[in-house]
Amino acid sequence: MTSPQPYTRAEIEALGDQLPERGAFCPSCGLYIPEFADISAEELTELKQNDTLTIFKTLREKTGCNLKWAKIWSQHPDGPHPLVAEETAPCPYCGVPLHPGAEQCLLCRMDWHDPTHPKQLGRSIADQILEAEPGTQIEVTSHSTWLLAQHFAELHHRRDEITIHFAKSEKA
Ligand SMILES: [Zn+2]
Ligand SMILES: [Zn+2]
Repeated sequence: MTSPQPYTRAEIEALGDQLPERGAFCPSCGLYIPEFADISAEELTELKQNDTLTIFKTLREKTGCNLKWAKIWSQHPDGPHPLVAEETAPCPYCGVPLHPGAEQCLLCRMDWHDPTHPKQLGRSIADQILEAEPGTQIEVTSHSTWLLAQHFAELHHRRDEITIHFAKSEKA
């Protein structure tokens, strides 16, 4: 496995308000923990000893990241939060982690409220991810779906080949 590419300042600035899409995935928060090109491992180790405000300030100065990114990083000093088994249950159809009581899945769009008659509610985004040609951009319209899609793409080794884009649906 290759380690994720750290973000450069130029990349971070170009991303603006977007959340990180690379780094270790924390399934418990549903977030990617960014790595930064402009701060050394030694500096980071030392930085972790500081109070939260110093961490935010230093990260923002050194890497150009916004407060959201600094928060995500500071909330994961030791990497992703361990996931307790009860917290999620895999979707029986596509395998993404869902709430244990879930009866439908945003990613493969299966609905099993009536377990004897599961229904497909729309085109499966899981299938789109598996079938997409490299370079394809797949659009999703909710942040929760985006997170599941990223997770699924990661699991199926497609995260470097396709782009999953979160676009809020236009409301008039
Ligand atoms: Zn977390
Ligand atoms: Zn599913």
